Amino acid sequence: MQNLFSACPCGIDHLKRMRRNTWMRLLPWLRLYRCDNCGKHQLHSEREIEAAKVKRDARTRFMRR
Ligand SMILES: [Zn+2]
Repeated sequence: MQNLFSACPCGIDHLKRMRRNTWMRLLPWLRLYRCDNCGKHQLHSEREIEAAKVKRDARTRFMRR
């Protein structure tokens, strides 16, 4: 079984939200994601993903200048 708690190196842009399994309700702060690049399932907190996206968007805006 793959480790859901380790992230793949493909980056947050490939992560797609998935329906959680029943046992994941025990971890309500985590969301299940699947990477559409390598297919790995992984758990992340939604806050962590949103923060990473904000950071990436800020960097993109900066590089366009
Ligand atoms: Zn991946």
